[in-house]
Amino acid sequence: MNEVKTPKKPMVYYYTLVLLALMLFNFFVMPAMVVNQVKEVDYSTFMDMTYQKQIGKVDVESNQIIFTNKDESQIYKTGLMNDPDLIPRLYENGAEFSGEIVQEMSPFASILMNVALLMLFIWLGQYMMKRMMNKAGGPNSMMFGMGKSNAKIYVQSTEGIKFSDVAGEDEAKENLAEIVEYLHTPDKYREIGASMPKGILLVGPPGTGKTMLAKAVAGEASVPFFSISGSEFVEMFVGMGASKVRDLFKQAKEKAPCIVFIDEIDAIGKKRDGQFGGNDEREQTLNQLLTEMDGFEDNTGVIILAATNRPESLDPALLRPGRFDRRVPVELPDLKGREEILKVHARKIKTTGMIDYNRIARMASGASGAELANIVNEAALRAVRDGRHAASQADLEESIEVVIAGYQKKNAILTDKEKLIVAYHEIGHALVAARQSNSAPVQKITIVPRTSGALGYTMQVEEGNHYLMSKEEIENKITTFTGGRAAEEVAFGSITTGASNDIEQATKLARAMITRYGMSKDFDMVAMETVSNQYLGGDASLACSAETQTLIDREVVALVKRQHEKAAQILMENRAKLDQLAYHLYEKETITGDEFMQILNDAQ
Ligand code: ADP
Repeated sequence: MNEVKTPKKPMVYYYTLVLLALMLFNFFVMPAMVVNQVKEVDYSTFMDMTYQKQIGKVDVESNQIIFTNKDESQIYKTGLMNDPDLIPRLYENGAEFSGEIVQEMSPFASILMNVALLMLFIWLGQYMMKRMMNKAGGPNSMMFGMGKSNAKIYVQSTEGIKFSDVAGEDEAKENLAEIVEYLHTPDKYREIGASMPKGILLVGPPGTGKTMLAKAVAGEASVPFFSISGSEFVEMFVGMGASKVRDLFKQAKEKAPCIVFIDEIDAIGKKRDGQFGGNDEREQTLNQLLTEMDGFEDNTGVIILAATNRPESLDPALLRPGRFDRRVPVELPDLKGREEILKVHARKIKTTGMIDYNRIARMASGASGAELANIVNEAALRAVRDGRHAASQADLEESIEVVIAGYQKKNAILTDKEKLIVAYHEIGHALVAARQSNSAPVQKITIVPRTSGALGYTMQVEEGNHYLMSKEEIENKITTFTGGRAAEEVAFGSITTGASNDIEQATKLARAMITRYGMSKDFDMVAMETVSNQYLGGDASLACSAETQTLIDREVVALVKRQHEKAAQILMENRAKLDQLAYHLYEKETITGDEFMQILNDAQ
């Protein structure tokens, strides 16, 4: 991948540089040039010249004598001697006493020098720019200095990125393969009268491979790839962004067929709300984009791909047919997708032994492609750190934990009592999960503190893909979240701050059950909350009256309380196992799911 990125420097930067150079020249170089003109002579030469009446102007200073010859074409200087007759002698020989002999070039010469220098700098600047443009001007990688908007568009080499590098995402690839086909054989489509969509919107959470897919389309079709981020259009001055859009499309049309990729299109494509004092610049840029998209005919061969993770915030005008009328979801990978992504990235590192990618993919449920790439890289780094030459299964498993929970804290000092409480807390989660038939089995329990602040955690592994969750399953999940705190209560009769994250998660689930999933007694199938950005954390906003809110709050509390009591009940029934497992974990600090199940299933 040969990406051309140039640091953008404003013109002011170059002007300042030229000014600085001129100042340096005037302060240091010019005086030095002048000094070179002054000839130093000994005192006897000075005396000789005096007697021969060759002295023009003279200036006797405290430590030297500066003088000129008769026609003042040369300046001399000599040291001062104890010579009381000096002044009368000079006077008699026709020297002219001058206050100061200015050691300067003529003003004309100095201006000439400065102008010459300025021209030199300008010429040098132009030469450098030309060279840079030529250098970046290979068939696949160019940098355009763009007319008045001064925008830069980067065309990147997409060689190397193919659909096979993008693992999983089969539906998205299938969808985009049609575009590749069109770019290869447009006639096939033209014959029948079909036209390709001009714009395709890739939507999905961050790090799922949207940019990669766009590059892969260009790579597969071997066409130039223009890439620009939406935020690059938004300038300080109104009209600049619009001008950039114009330039971008002008360049793209010249290079057609080609792919134009606009990342984070929501930066310019946000809904225009028409409120007074809106963002004029952004709206003008968007208008220009809409105009440009309408402007080119179906068969120019410019295909625009845009990526966003906030599709709901886009202006409807952008989404209407003829513009971004096709939407390709690029979702978080499922189990099979995760396994494939891990394999694609593991090809780039050295591995040793049999690696169970399926197991790792199951452990990393919910991870995006970018996170999985990171996990593989972490594993390789871990192997290097330990002085080994290849990464193993254990490295990969540990690096999942690093990505989820941070590095192990080497010197976190927990008191014995705290350690025991954490052990009970974690076993509480695991035991409650294991005793509820519908909960996923426990993979690993550890009480080694992590840099994320977690003092321990229980890793659960989903057996397969889950697209639907039943009411019971969600309730069981809440019970598992409350299991940690319940274990503290059962074992110690007191509670700690360790459960804050569990509380947050349990509450979130309980609230979603009532306000979004219609799983409450009183509200039936009424949506009380709407999710505003599903791909970025899924913030929800309430859409109900204040009274209903009170009722919702009450139901949430009642629901969590019920599950909490259920967890405590399970733990009390399994008190002996709770103690046995907690002490085992306390001793060993990390136990596997198998170990846990073995102890749990031992003769009671
Ligand atoms: P997005 O544009 O959706 O935020 P990117 O395309 O920039 O994500 O992906 C970031 C990185 O994550 C890629 O460089 C790649 O290493 C990795 N990645 C993401 N999805 C995949 C995938 N499906 N297959 C392989 N690698 C992926």
